[in-house]
Amino acid sequence: MTTIRANCPSCGDVQLKASDLIVRVCSDDERGSYTFRCPDCHMPVAKDASRRIVDLLVGSGVRMQVWRLPAELTEQHAGPTLTPDDLLDFHLLLQTDEWFEGVAEEVRRTIDQPGR
Ligand SMILES: [Zn+2]
Repeated sequence: MTTIRANCPSCGDVQLKASDLIVRVCSDDERGSYTFRCPDCHMPVAKDASRRIVDLLVGSGVRMQVWRLPAELTEQHAGPTLTPDDLLDFHLLLQTDEWFEGVAEEVRRTIDQPGR
């Protein structure tokens, strides 16, 4: 079985089996990383990985997960930026019994007057 040497920020070099690591590749920007739990201190460790490291790890039998960036990153946002006052108003609104109706009314007004 292949032994993989990786570095824990607290313990230094540690020996792992392929099944101890997971390689993660983002399908949107092809960034790679790998994660493992340190066998000595049991802390989770995550490191960036170049394409070459990803290929080496996968070739050694490390499981690969492909993930996507959250869809929210591509959303178009219109209207003014939230301010601390907006957050305070929302906080006060949530303390009322009619908060849901208040939020629904605010959404209706925003939809009727986009870019207000
Ligand atoms: Zn450690």
